Amino acid sequence: MGICLLLNKGENVDIFYYIMIFIMGTVFGSFFTLAVYRIPLKKDITHERSFCPTCNHKLGFWDMIPVLSYIAFRGKCRYCGEKIRIRYLILEVLSGLVFLTEYLALNMHFPNLEIGKIALFVAFIFTYVTIAIICGIDKEYRKVNVGLIIFGFIMEGLYILYLYIVEGTIIYRYGMYLFMMILLYIINTVSIKKLGESKYFIECLMLCSYIGACLEPELLLLIAVLAGILIVLNQIYQKMKKMFKDKPDILQDNELPKVRIGFFLGIATIAVTILETYITYM
Ligand SMILES: [Zn+2]
Repeated sequence: MGICLLLNKGENVDIFYYIMIFIMGTVFGSFFTLAVYRIPLKKDITHERSFCPTCNHKLGFWDMIPVLSYIAFRGKCRYCGEKIRIRYLILEVLSGLVFLTEYLALNMHFPNLEIGKIALFVAFIFTYVTIAIICGIDKEYRKVNVGLIIFGFIMEGLYILYLYIVEGTIIYRYGMYLFMMILLYIINTVSIKKLGESKYFIECLMLCSYIGACLEPELLLLIAVLAGILIVLNQIYQKMKKMFKDKPDILQDNELPKVRIGFFLGIATIAVTILETYITYM
């Protein structure tokens, strides 16, 4: 109440929107785990109800409210009492913060919402959602999901089309990356058996083409540098962990590539995109 009195009406409405945007982010955050689990298994992600992995009880409405359900039921399943991993809560909050940070970076204020900024925000959401799920799947299975890349690429194409029709911006780079994407897709599908381990790298190149279509060329370089730094830091961390814990490395016997390139590329892309929005609109 005290805070409300200090703010004028416009700021009050702004805060209402901040909360709404944050909630939207947490809703995606709770969908994220389900998508990462179901997409690689080619399971339905929208119609089938979520269930507790321990007791298989189908989750009700009150179990699926992001953040609040976790707090209300003290991080336990309501049916069997099994503890729910805190990472679900962290992912929900983190996702809410990503949505909110991008919204704040766009410097939007009610009621002067520019249509161009709204379109950019929607385009960001689609890019973020696609890349976050790609990251999650790569982290778990060391696989870059081609279907998701194509989905994101088409959504970005619609945004580019919007820019062309409404704002008259002609973006040639999309066409260039579209050509590259088709080429890589053909290589990936035609020689699927011969590729073996390099299949992962073809998928990573497809991800690069998608990221390239979304961002300016110089930002792509920044993403590559940032992803490189993250990969090196992660390698050092893994080595240290091995040295101190004396645990057998589960990745050692694995035939799949040891470095999760897609995961780090995705993280770098999300960070650079938000940073770019801040620099452009602040
Ligand atoms: Zn349960």
